[in-house]
Amino acid sequence: MHERRTKDGFGGGGAGFVGSHLCDALLADGHRVICVDNFQTGSARNVEALDNHPDFSLIEADICEVFAVDSKLDQVYNLACPASPPQYQANPIHTMMTSVVGTANLLKLAEQHGASFLQASTSEVYGDPEQHPQHEDYWGHVNCTGPRACYDEGKRASETLCFDMLRMGRVDARVVRIFNTYGPRMSPDDGRIVSNLIIQALRGDDLTIYGTGEQTRSFCYVSDLVAGLVALMNVAPNPGKPVNVGNPGEFTIGDLAGLVLEMTESRSRLVHLPLPIDDPQRRRPDISRAKEVLGWEPRVSLSEGLAMTIPWFAGQLRSNPAVKGR
Ligand code: NAD
Ligand code: UDP
Repeated sequence: MHERRTKDGFGGGGAGFVGSHLCDALLADGHRVICVDNFQTGSARNVEALDNHPDFSLIEADICEVFAVDSKLDQVYNLACPASPPQYQANPIHTMMTSVVGTANLLKLAEQHGASFLQASTSEVYGDPEQHPQHEDYWGHVNCTGPRACYDEGKRASETLCFDMLRMGRVDARVVRIFNTYGPRMSPDDGRIVSNLIIQALRGDDLTIYGTGEQTRSFCYVSDLVAGLVALMNVAPNPGKPVNVGNPGEFTIGDLAGLVLEMTESRSRLVHLPLPIDDPQRRRPDISRAKEVLGWEPRVSLSEGLAMTIPWFAGQLRSNPAVKGR
C-alpha cells in the first residue's frame, strides 16, 4: 500500500495558466490545495473542473493584501503575477507591487506556518542577455527604467527577498527561473507569442511578427514546467540557488510561425509590426543545474507540445468564434 503523501499547499496565482496545471498535479499527488487568485489574468474557468474536489478550495484575493490561513500549510507556491508583456504593462505599478509586496506577504505566510516556499521567477531577470545560453550565475542585462522593468525588476527583487529570508533562516525559500512556457489554458487574448500565433492561424488572420522575427525563444511545454516546479519544491537539501527550468531547444519567432502554419494547415500571411522596446534578442536556458540538482529535463518537443495545444485553442474558438489574439 502506498503511504498517502498529503501536504497542505497554498498556491498564489493558482487560477492562471501554469497555476491551474500545478493545482491539478498537486491534487493528483494527494495534496490538499488552497488556490488564491485575484483573476487579473487568470480565470475561475481554469479550475472549474476542481470545484467539487474535496481537497481543493479557491479564494479570490490579491496577494498584495495581507491575509491569514487558519489551517496548517506545508508548502507555499507563489505564481501570482501576469506573465504576458501587454498584461503586465497594463498596470505596471501593480505588477511591481505583486512581485515585491505580494511575495513579501506570502513569504511571511510561509514563515508563520514553517512552510517551504517556491517563487516563480523568470528568464526575464537576464533581460536582453549578453551571455548565451543563460546560466544562473549570469547577473543579467536589464533596463531598470524601461516598460518591461515593472516585471523584470519586480521579479529580481522577489528573488532578493527569497534569498534574504533563506540566509536569515526564516523561510525554506526556493527560486525557479521559468523560460517561455506554453500549453492549454493560456488565455487566448493574453498576447504572448504562442497563443497569438495559434489563434491567428486558426482564424485565418495575419500572423503578427514583431521586428524581423529573427529573435529567438526557447519554448517549454507546461507539463514539463510543472514537473520542474514540484521537483524543486521537494528536493532536499534546498539548492540555495536559483534554478533555470525551460526547454533548451531554441527557435526564431519566424521558425515558430512556420511551424504553426504547417501544423494548423493555415494560409494566413505574416505581417511585420514594430519590435517592442527592450525585447530580448536571444534566449535559451542552460539547464545543467536543473539536471544535476533535480534530475529534471524536459520531455516534450515543440512540435509534440503544439500538437497538444492547437486543439485546445480550436475548442476555445468553437465555443466563442469572436476570440482573437492580442
Ligand atoms: P498567468 O497570467 O496565466 O497567471 C498568473 C496568475 O496570477 C493569474 O491567475 C492572475 O490572475 C494571478 N495574479 C496576478 N496578480 C495577482 C495578485 N496580485 N494577487 C493574486 N493573484 C494574482 O501567467 P502564467 O503564465 O501562468 O505565469 C505564472 C507565473 O509564472 C507568473 O509568476 C509568471 O511571472 C511566471 N512565469 C511564467 C512564464 C511563462 O512563460 N508562462 C515565464 C516566466 C515566468
Ligand atoms: N511576438 C511576436 N508577435 C506576437 C507576440 C510576440 O512577434 O504577436 C514576439 C515578441 O516580440 C518576442 C517573442 O515573440 O520577441 C516572445 O514574446 P512573448 O510576449 O511571448 O514573451 P517574452 O517576450 O516575454 O519572452
